[in-house]
Amino acid sequence: MTSSGETLATDRIQAAGYRALEPFPGRVNQRWLMECTECGEQQRLRPDHKLKPCEHKQQERERRADEAADKQFQDALLSVRSRKLGTKNLRALEDHPGVEGELWWVECKYCGRKWHMREDQLRACPHKGSGDEGAPPSPEKPAPKRRAKKAAGKASGLAEFEYLPVRWLVPDLPEGSNRYATRVTRGWWAEATAEQREQRLAEQREYLVATVARTTGVEIDAARITYTVGDGQDEAGPVRPDEEPT
Ligand SMILES: [Zn+2]
Ligand SMILES: [Zn+2]
Repeated sequence: MTSSGETLATDRIQAAGYRALEPFPGRVNQRWLMECTECGEQQRLRPDHKLKPCEHKQQERERRADEAADKQFQDALLSVRSRKLGTKNLRALEDHPGVEGELWWVECKYCGRKWHMREDQLRACPHKGSGDEGAPPSPEKPAPKRRAKKAAGKASGLAEFEYLPVRWLVPDLPEGSNRYATRVTRGWWAEATAEQREQRLAEQREYLVATVARTTGVEIDAARITYTVGDGQDEAGPVRPDEEPT
């Protein structure tokens, strides 16, 4: 019986977090010297069914509960104070002091004056005076964003909508008034098939013929009109950019 009692008692103290420091006293209702395996505190306890774990665990639970409650309070306080900073147009220059009523370095968002205000008495800056002495430096202002890349992207995007000149030569008209200009967008031209280009140019040629007939009264032969598309071709002679299709 003794050995089974010892086994039971040994299991029990181990489960509760203790280690025996002397031989089993013989009965579970006798005090037995043991130590807590975590904190090392030595106690004489009865290894009966009422054996409780070492109190350090209870204390630790209480400490954790206290910490959690404290954290919750701090978070709530910080949240309230941060909102208040915003409504008073202030920004914090240091972490919240964490204690109610403490002084807190803040800065006016508008004029940049720095004030050592009680964290529970935040008020808007009067924009007068030089602020309080000994303030910490302002947080660095964010570096201006670089625009070069964006600008380049914009430029290349615009190129698509730049015009490509189309120059027309009408041989039936006298030199000096036989050149016309129309245009197409660069992007369209680049994407268009040969047929689409041909069709667009045919439309412009028809329009040109109609324009010439209307403005000069001369019927011209559309088949004799020649054209060039793009830059660097025959720049001589008058160009009439106002003559273009709608
Ligand atoms: Zn302990
Ligand atoms: Zn101010």
